[in-house]
Amino acid sequence: MSEEILINITPMETRVAVVENGVLQEVYIERTRRRGIVGNIYKGKVVRVLPGMQAAFVDIGLERAAFIHAADVTPPSRGHQAGSDVESISALLREGQSLIVQVTKEPIGSKGARLTTHLSIPSRYLVYMPHTPHTGVSQRIDDEEERERLRSIVENRPEPEKGKGVEGGFIIRTAAEGYGEEEVQADVHFLERLWRSVERRCKEAKERTVIYEDLPLFMRTMRDFVRPEIEKIRIDSRENFTKLKEFVQEFVPSLEPRVEYYPGERPIFDLYGVEDEIQKALGRKVQLKSGGYLVVDQTEAMTTIDVNTGAFVGHRNLEETIFKTNLEAATAIVRQLRLRNLGGIIIIDFIDMEDAEHQRQVLRLLEKNLERDHAKTKLTGVTELGLVQMTRKRTRESLEQVMCEPCPTCEARGTIKTPETVCYEIFREILREERAYGSKTYLVLASQPVVDRLLDEESASVADLELFINKTIKFQVETMYSQEQFDVVLL
Ligand SMILES: [Zn+2]
Repeated sequence: MSEEILINITPMETRVAVVENGVLQEVYIERTRRRGIVGNIYKGKVVRVLPGMQAAFVDIGLERAAFIHAADVTPPSRGHQAGSDVESISALLREGQSLIVQVTKEPIGSKGARLTTHLSIPSRYLVYMPHTPHTGVSQRIDDEEERERLRSIVENRPEPEKGKGVEGGFIIRTAAEGYGEEEVQADVHFLERLWRSVERRCKEAKERTVIYEDLPLFMRTMRDFVRPEIEKIRIDSRENFTKLKEFVQEFVPSLEPRVEYYPGERPIFDLYGVEDEIQKALGRKVQLKSGGYLVVDQTEAMTTIDVNTGAFVGHRNLEETIFKTNLEAATAIVRQLRLRNLGGIIIIDFIDMEDAEHQRQVLRLLEKNLERDHAKTKLTGVTELGLVQMTRKRTRESLEQVMCEPCPTCEARGTIKTPETVCYEIFREILREERAYGSKTYLVLASQPVVDRLLDEESASVADLELFINKTIKFQVETMYSQEQFDVVLL
């Protein structure tokens, strides 16, 4: 398996493509304007304490004051056991004091950001929590032995040099699974260094300023996704190439020789047809090489994926053709899940197979492909109707959510009324107007397909209607109208 990462940076957005064996598998997009502030640490100033709400407003230098609840404030003396009642906000905070806080929810509309003082800073394998002296292991690491191994690496780490150690605890992230002592400890040291610099800034920084920001997308990718089998990381911005190099030197030094600046004439996302593949990943239909195809439907409750054979399969070897199509689909589906970043409940409708061994093989291949997915997935079984159920952890927004909005023409139904339906609505509207007001002439404004139909297939009906109401009906194409839109004007 050869893997390559392509990074495309413009002032407006950063896009990261993960390409495996020449095929685009994942894409991440971060829009500069929409870059969130969740995870940022600020030196804030308490501006109002609200005893009735057990909360306070904190100015962190944004347009609106941010909000913190008493339960999210670490008591100054940690004599209290977890689970004891939350102290009253007035005992915890006073107006005018400065406070180090981390954002847990983005500000939305008129609501300010939501804050906590329980700070946490992620790295590749760990999350460091300066105020929580425990070691925890991600629940997603199932194996008990592995959990213990990782826990002991973190807990039995060598004492740092005198005066350089940090308090607090670590959470071991799922990404640590299977990694050795050296890598995990490198992460501990990185976080210790990082935290000491954050602490220094906490002291020196002015109130209402940011002290720590999560990394930009292209560096986060290095932190979270990079695997040893990565052959090359290519980035098309010289300025950020330098930053990336420095980051990789500090963080994942083994990768440094594989980071390259891409000065190419051709846009970097034209390599491996990445740009085309992104466009295709927004469509419902996915063509398979065998002639079959997938139909991907996202609803609010779940995603359904329907597997279909090509138009003609013949009678001979039908079972064999279906089996081959399902096998190809088992690979294509996992790619689509990753590429579109679909999360939640996923229902797959493979083509029915008689042979139980074929069914097992298709499921096994699906499972094997899912192992390469960065998101946690779980096959939960096959229903009585033969539907394969699975879940995939929702991480970020799906590709569609990042790039698209509901269609205003069909209001996200996915279909629009036919010109025929619109014509009959127009006839009813004219009759309604005629009864209510009456007019010498009616002018109908509608889209091209609707006017075409009125003048052609419906011309006899129009003539009947004109005779019936004894008025003239005129038509005018409005190029800006969608097919469903029309107006009846009295002249
Ligand atoms: Zn639409």
